[in-house]
Amino acid sequence: MKTCKICRSVAVNVVAQLLPKHGGRCDALQCHQCGFLWADPLPDFTPEFLNQIYGEAYTEQIRSLESDYESRRTLYQATVSQLDLLEKYLPSSPRYRKALNIGAMTISSKVLLDQGWDLTAVEVSDYAARSAAEKWDMQVVHGKIEDVTLPADVFDLIKLSHVIEHLADPLAVLHKLHSTMKRGGILLLETDNSAGLKTWLEVSVRRLLGEALATSLVYRLTQKNLKTRYGRLIPYEHVSLFNQKSLLLAVQDVGFVPIQILCPAQGDPVWFPFTNQAQRWTPLERLMSYVDALGAKIGRGEVLVMFARKE
Ligand SMILES: [Zn+2]
Repeated sequence: MKTCKICRSVAVNVVAQLLPKHGGRCDALQCHQCGFLWADPLPDFTPEFLNQIYGEAYTEQIRSLESDYESRRTLYQATVSQLDLLEKYLPSSPRYRKALNIGAMTISSKVLLDQGWDLTAVEVSDYAARSAAEKWDMQVVHGKIEDVTLPADVFDLIKLSHVIEHLADPLAVLHKLHSTMKRGGILLLETDNSAGLKTWLEVSVRRLLGEALATSLVYRLTQKNLKTRYGRLIPYEHVSLFNQKSLLLAVQDVGFVPIQILCPAQGDPVWFPFTNQAQRWTPLERLMSYVDALGAKIGRGEVLVMFARKE
């Protein structure tokens, strides 16, 4: 019997059977109590396996979103705006403050450095760690966040931006982040919302049509293979998907106090700005982005943002 990784309920259902693009097969499981959605079983996420997934091709695909000047400026400004919003939650303290950024693939590390943060970045990908150090002249701790040793009670800010969905054991990592954070410090966490209106519509249509018909239709319209994904669950990259309820439970479980939770749409200028990717959209993808914008208006956008404090 399967148990929810977040609320430990046994009310767990198989919602889809998937064929991950890196091989093997797994189920998409969802908890009825808290809504947490995860891939199971998972292979052993060894550093070697993770470097196969998050190698040069993956890193450069992420960085292609900031490859031109205008896109880079948009993403840079988004992080500046995020840090502005965060400032009101941080205690007024000495200017020299410590930040931990999990991941070093995007320009947000550079923004933290430019704003005077004493930054530690942890990056699992060999390629991303090496190239970030060269590109942005920064220190990067290379390794899995699960394996890296971090001192207790030191960071004023921890930024976990679109990382938690990649983790096999999100509670263990949140626990580690809580212990390395200073009292009064702030966690800024962003991830995909598994209960966004757009995702809800997509999985409802999938259920209604049945797997075979939905798969062939979606492939014809978007060239995406539904067999490899369920909503934003795309193993073995996205393996842990939260909604508001399960994310609140998770951060509280390890001792953080949630301050604010937001559900903006993809395309939100602060939380998920579109840069050059919109130029490649199919008409269906364009239509679904309107659904997402509508979702955000009713508190069900595709992005989840959480501010939480260590008291
Ligand atoms: Zn649960």
